[in-house]
Amino acid sequence: MMEPRHAGGPDPEPPVLECTGVTRAFRVKGRLFNPARTLCAVDAVSFSVRRGEVFAIVGESGAGKTTLAKMLLGLQAPSSGVIRFAGRPLGEVGRVAIARRVQPVFQDPYSSLNPRKTLGQIISLPLAVHRIGTEADRRARVDEIMAMVGLPEHLLHAYPNQLSGGQRQRVAIARALAMKPDILVCDEPTSALDVSVQAQIINLLRELQQELGLTYVLVSHDLGVIRHMADRVAVMYLGRMVEIGRTAQIFRAPRHPYTEMLLGAILTPEPELGLPPGPAEDSFPDPLDPPDGCRFHPRCPSVQNPCRHTSPETRHDAHGSVECHLHPAEQETRYG
Ligand code: SF4
Repeated sequence: MMEPRHAGGPDPEPPVLECTGVTRAFRVKGRLFNPARTLCAVDAVSFSVRRGEVFAIVGESGAGKTTLAKMLLGLQAPSSGVIRFAGRPLGEVGRVAIARRVQPVFQDPYSSLNPRKTLGQIISLPLAVHRIGTEADRRARVDEIMAMVGLPEHLLHAYPNQLSGGQRQRVAIARALAMKPDILVCDEPTSALDVSVQAQIINLLRELQQELGLTYVLVSHDLGVIRHMADRVAVMYLGRMVEIGRTAQIFRAPRHPYTEMLLGAILTPEPELGLPPGPAEDSFPDPLDPPDGCRFHPRCPSVQNPCRHTSPETRHDAHGSVECHLHPAEQETRYG
């Protein structure tokens, strides 16, 4: 297990990525006799990511992970709150500068690659769009990245439909690296791949991260992948970040009942951990009509009366943060 590189103490430099109170709300049209409603996909989330870190965001479908990822990529603007790259607000950073800082690796390499472009054209496209380098420079960069991600040279003129799933995801990673970004936002990077190929792509991402000093924001519902790759984990539930902690601590001693429930879905072979069963898929609440009080209270095995009408505050400590009435500030040290 990779340990975090910056476990505590003063940071030598500002976070490479910082979100403060970031919210994204959508207006959803009403139907006959039903007024329009507001869907708050991401609700006042705050976190920071340090250079060279793998920061994972986990949660069920509908938690707000993908909306948050789109905001980090500059594809959607926050309704409120601020996203900063190396201290600069996203709104002040131009398109080319954003592309140099952060690039996506999407879930499905089958649909994210243009079937009419060759592999060489796909990888060099970001450079061509932003008019970076000469044609010869771009060609040299394509050769360099293909070698880096393990794509043989003879595939330069191949089309996506001539490649395996693993090769396609390598192309998607190569395209993301073309601009030499600081951060890759990897949205479920292995979930469309066969299990054997998943391991290869995870290993490739880890090697690249260490070789190039990349920072990853890894969005996934797969705790197995996260346990393998992440330094820290943020757990999202209905738009809120309910717990943030080091990966080892989250898996050893989760603090939020929802985190315990998620872990219960993958750790049931170890009953001595005493974790509750994983979440039932049909019990996820309607994001358009979230519960009052703590949003998790209808599913929480530890629910108490205040949970039904009062939202818990986020408590921060040396291990991260947790948003639950069971963890008032004075109890923070019990996890030290
Ligand atoms: Fe459960 Fe209450 Fe904590 Fe919410 S605040 S997670 S309902 S114990």
